[in-house]
Amino acid sequence: MSLLRLAGYDNPFFARHTCRNAVVVCQDFRFVEQYLAFLKARYCLEAGDYNLIAVPGPVKDLVLAKYSGIVHRAINISVACHQVENVFLSTHIDCAAEGGSAAFDSPEKEMDFCDKRLHEGREILHSMFPSVKVICHLIGESDFFVLHN
Ligand SMILES: [Zn+2]
Repeated sequence: MSLLRLAGYDNPFFARHTCRNAVVVCQDFRFVEQYLAFLKARYCLEAGDYNLIAVPGPVKDLVLAKYSGIVHRAINISVACHQVENVFLSTHIDCAAEGGSAAFDSPEKEMDFCDKRLHEGREILHSMFPSVKVICHLIGESDFFVLHN
């Protein structure tokens, strides 16, 4: 065996096999920590009660790749193996996976595009996982927006 033990650590979650939430966020370092802090404050999200799915442009992956995408596969495992009940689905402005803000003529057009993406992503998740509650957010430069209809 070529593995050399470096350190031990306390893992209070290891014996559990379920959690209530999955958090889907772009891997972009500018937004991950802020989004998790927002979810913890706003939705009482707790450590050990969510699967973190952080990939580039996750809603784009979900909308364009559907069943073959990494986001679908990650959520499928979250639901099937960890009995996740809620999915927090997010996108953000200036996402490189979508071409960045420069790909849009105006901030309003980028917001509209993100709104449409989130609607599409939510519909896909509803059709794939009808029992799961989907809460969608757009992460702005310094604001969080929720998809409300
Ligand atoms: Zn991104």
